[in-house]
Amino acid sequence: MLRARLPSGEEIEYDVERPEGLPMGVMLEPPRIRRCANHCDFCFVDGNPQGMRQALYIRDDDYRLSFRYGNFATLTNLKPWDLERIVEYRLSPLYVSVHATDPVVRRWLLRNPEATDVIPQLRWFVERGISFHTQVVLVPGINDGPQLVRTLSDLYSLGPAILSVSVVPVALTEFSKHSLVRQPTREECRAAIGAVDDFAARAVADRGVPWCYGADDLYLQAELPLPPAEWYGDFEQRENGVGAVRYLQTRIQAARPALETEGWRDKRIGIVTGTAMAPLIPQIVTDLTQITGAHFEILGLENTLFGPSVTTAGLLPGKAILAALQSRSDLDLALLPAESVNDDLLFMDDMEAHALAAQVPMPVRLSYDFADALVGEGVAA
Ligand code: SF4
Repeated sequence: MLRARLPSGEEIEYDVERPEGLPMGVMLEPPRIRRCANHCDFCFVDGNPQGMRQALYIRDDDYRLSFRYGNFATLTNLKPWDLERIVEYRLSPLYVSVHATDPVVRRWLLRNPEATDVIPQLRWFVERGISFHTQVVLVPGINDGPQLVRTLSDLYSLGPAILSVSVVPVALTEFSKHSLVRQPTREECRAAIGAVDDFAARAVADRGVPWCYGADDLYLQAELPLPPAEWYGDFEQRENGVGAVRYLQTRIQAARPALETEGWRDKRIGIVTGTAMAPLIPQIVTDLTQITGAHFEILGLENTLFGPSVTTAGLLPGKAILAALQSRSDLDLALLPAESVNDDLLFMDDMEAHALAAQVPMPVRLSYDFADALVGEGVAA
């Protein structure tokens, strides 16, 4: 007997007759990615140039990926049965792009006149036991200033089920709609950090955790120092670039005894990263140098695929890395950002990591936190 429930809610029972020991002959259809119903001016996917992995042209907005992988979703494409499903299967926590809680401002940012009013929607879920990590992508002149304060205040009023909120400066590519959206200035980033600090102070007093966090990039663009590692708790939003630097420093300290005995002394090691992390990595490299005795060189590469304003290491194309390493026979090892390849070891531009490794004069290893690549065999590309 096979019992199925259709998307409409109708339940059907099938009697399947088969010889004992033979498989049922039923295969589940692979889940289809839920497409996004919005058209944000800062949309990363719309800004993608030709020549990348096909999947990168899909604008996904899928609550299942949000639950499973921590992808941020807007929840603007939920059907009534999705709401029930999230509650029934307790798909919690979900990661939600809020951006603004004023419905008019949110619809403007998402370029979706039908976007759901997010606070009543979140409240409905919260009342049914679902919790959320949230983010605000900061678009200057639209959802900063009083709008940011309103957004943080509205989210805070939903109580501890809103587990965290991060404020992330908008990232644009050279293909983005620059006539409609720009990056925040240093002063605008500082003002946003001021709002973050106010809410964090309140949350620490009320709830014992900061709750509200600025992305590392916000501090970088504001030219202000990062908070200490303890500030970030379990680094819940580090994949979103929130506390990533402090996380790395923590990992390196944890691996210290092993790193000290690995024999890297006087070796020359290149660290490939994007231009965002390049100015932050010296803080990490100071620790690494002191522990291992190796000489580290930071190779902060411009993104030749998306343009120089895309600064994260995870989006570096293989060709840019190849060009940087091809003639560097003076290096004993190069560490590549592991997040820049997918599960098939393909970079953004479809170059395969082993193909890259075969064309450079030094061994290369994929690394999330340096310690993973410098202790033991590491993961060779
Ligand atoms: S929500 Fe906006 S940024 Fe995200 S995929 Fe949709 S259009 Fe792009």
